[in-house]
Amino acid sequence: MSTVPDLLDFDGLLDDAEREVRTRVRAFVDERVKPSIADWYDRAHFPVELVPELAALGLLGMHLSGYGCPGRSAVEYGLAAMELEAGDSGLRTFVSVQGSLAMSAIHKHGSEEQKQRWLPSMARGEAIGCFGLTEPNSGSDPASMTTFARRDGDDWVLNGAKRWIGLASIADVAVIWAQTDEGVRGFLVPTDTPGFTATPIAPKMSMRASIQCDIALSDVRIPADAQLPEARGLRAPFSCLNEARYGIGWGVIGAARDSYETALAYAGQRMQFNQPIASFQLTQSKLVDMALEIEKAQLVALRLGRLKDAGRLAPHQISVAKLSNTRAAIAVAREARTILGGNGVSAEYSPMRHAANLESVRTYEGTDEIHTLVLGAHLTGIPAFRSVT
Ligand code: FAD
Repeated sequence: MSTVPDLLDFDGLLDDAEREVRTRVRAFVDERVKPSIADWYDRAHFPVELVPELAALGLLGMHLSGYGCPGRSAVEYGLAAMELEAGDSGLRTFVSVQGSLAMSAIHKHGSEEQKQRWLPSMARGEAIGCFGLTEPNSGSDPASMTTFARRDGDDWVLNGAKRWIGLASIADVAVIWAQTDEGVRGFLVPTDTPGFTATPIAPKMSMRASIQCDIALSDVRIPADAQLPEARGLRAPFSCLNEARYGIGWGVIGAARDSYETALAYAGQRMQFNQPIASFQLTQSKLVDMALEIEKAQLVALRLGRLKDAGRLAPHQISVAKLSNTRAAIAVAREARTILGGNGVSAEYSPMRHAANLESVRTYEGTDEIHTLVLGAHLTGIPAFRSVT
């Protein structure tokens, strides 16, 4: 099975194991997601019933090793993200939050006991995690967070608020980032701890088949050993964000490809002026531009994956893929929508749903503007995150 359009024989750059992961996840998405996604999206339903199947496919904590995690390569993880997002960005977001954010935080920064307690059950999909960094007044600038953890005897007591936290209302454990007297630290908060509440944000115009919440932390008391011992400062959450951003660089190509495939199929059978609309040069021009963007995005993602598997991936390179591929994907989804004409605004067809989802994707894990500034700083040597006064 080749990827469509595959003008440049992208398949020839993959090995058998990589192609096998892609085929397996694509079959799952075709069978279990595509038939129902329009309904889930309409009802704002996150299909939590699929979590055991995602776990059985080895997609939770997929690129982490040990503690019951699948230990697959970065490229395999990326290909899986791409196939999931061909179904819906919300599904890929679930896998990103669970594996790349929550499990990664524990894997990178947790104690041996914390890893043993949480990672095997999270890989099996029996426990769900969330990752609380963003706050109502602290988004692109997480250093401005005000959630605070104070020592009280042997315990920590957390107060504050988090916003837009994926999965929080169905999570068993929340990774909460908070200021302390020694700087930013991470904490594992079981979500049944008194004082912890998570309220889904609704209604949403994007990512409707996934869950994001407001979290309130009111005198949440947790023991000393709930702190992530290896997490010191903002570098710790940033290291997890880089894992998730890596997956996004791949995932968005799936949304673009599904949009393209939908438009191509429609253009082949939709008749106007007694001929298929695919026969019009303007339609072909759109399809060609979409295919070129997908081809380029795949090559960017694969280069990123090979660098990551070789242990040579630099953060600014992740910004290249997050910014460039998300921008390309949203343009492809919107262009695909135009080929569908009026039917393009019906929930029966995927491109407009993908385009709406990608509005979230271009915002979370660093907005377009923040990744532009990361690359601007890399190119010029001058950070421009703050205005000069
Ligand atoms: P702001 O930071 O207020 O930005 C608003 C606008 O100002 C943007 O266009 C931004 O680019 C621009 N801007 C800000 N600073 C600058 C600057 N220096 N120069 C130029 N422009 C600037 N967070 C979590 O912690 N966990 C999650 O699981 C999670 N999931 C999410 C899921 C969804 C669907 C969404 C929408 C968000 C999620 N987020 C999550 C939050 C997300 O990471 C933030 O929304 C994002 O970081 C942007 O922060 P903000 O919304 O506060 O926007």
